[in-house]
Amino acid sequence: MSDTSPYLVPPEDLGSLLPGEPSFRADQLRDWLYHSPVLTADEMTNLPSAVREAVGGDLWPFEVEVDQSADNGRTRKWLFRAPDGAAIEAVLMGYRKRTTICISSQVGCAMGCTFCATGQFGFDRHLEAGEIVAQVAYANAFLRRFPIPGSPDRVTNVVYMGMGEPLANYERVRESLRRLIDVSGMSARSITVSTVGVVPGIDRLADEPWPVYLAVSLHGADDVTRSRLVPLNDRYPLEAVIESAEAYFAAKGRRISIEWTLIKGVNDSDDQARKLAAIAGRLRAHVNVIALNPTPLSDDRPSGDDRIRGFVETLLANGANATLRETRGQEIDAACGQLRLRRATE
Ligand code: SAH
Ligand code: SF4
Repeated sequence: MSDTSPYLVPPEDLGSLLPGEPSFRADQLRDWLYHSPVLTADEMTNLPSAVREAVGGDLWPFEVEVDQSADNGRTRKWLFRAPDGAAIEAVLMGYRKRTTICISSQVGCAMGCTFCATGQFGFDRHLEAGEIVAQVAYANAFLRRFPIPGSPDRVTNVVYMGMGEPLANYERVRESLRRLIDVSGMSARSITVSTVGVVPGIDRLADEPWPVYLAVSLHGADDVTRSRLVPLNDRYPLEAVIESAEAYFAAKGRRISIEWTLIKGVNDSDDQARKLAAIAGRLRAHVNVIALNPTPLSDDRPSGDDRIRGFVETLLANGANATLRETRGQEIDAACGQLRLRRATE
């Protein structure tokens, strides 16, 4: 029996797990893994039992340690545990026309954004391409058995907004995109890569063949405000990030989104809103405003409802496209590294 999850083997090399089997078996296995994932190898009905046993012992590269639901079952949060102890979290969200999974690209994050639970925790390791793709596959396998009523019963959208900075794990994230798009057949238009502003990574992504959406987490509309929240701003200042995003938009024709976490008294003034609107206008970007989810290691608090509304109104009045993002799964800490944080401090 193999002790390597088939998701950790490149999809083109699956035959290496099936010595002595004809090559079409590897193709069948690839179909199960990438086109119609199932929770257990027993369900791979067209494979002989010897093959199912060969891959079934460790079908997933992780165990499901926590499986929580919220928002009347429309939000599901998983904490996966890799054999080396690494915690990987993913959140599945059902909407009327979309089923979106938010996936992690690293265990922890080295970027140290002050308001982010993942950042406060530091960096453990990169995720392998297979560990990234398996989060999406697991969600599809889960949905096949437990669909979310009223939402598509397959993952329609993938956002790289879980733990980690995807563009600081470039090669593996690139390979995960290749597997999702070229092997699984997902549309690049259904995928969003979110970055805190790793300029060389944005530039490389612009050169890739896939027109994935790019989200840029700004949080500050001038260097002083931004550097207080995002240490990476000292290395890649605001103007460099904006120029790189502008070039991405020019190369791909995909509307950029700007992520903005509103923090009371820090980045929620009308002055910031006006400056942000100017940046959004320049990029023709859409601004997603989200209220801070408080984290235990920081005194930062979310802006009050009136200020949130005032901030968004100032954005709109200054010509920006902006929406206030609904926060999903708050009762299960479904925001950026928070489940992991809670378990580590319990
Ligand atoms: N590293 C990437 C992607 C993961 S973070 C990035 O920073 O873009 C995904 C999003 O969650 C980012 O926009 C980030 O700013 C936001 N976020 C992080 N911590 C948060 C918190 N405590 N409350 C609200 N949003 C948060
Ligand atoms: Fe890392 Fe993104 Fe959190 Fe910043 S916000 S620490 S880049 S995961």
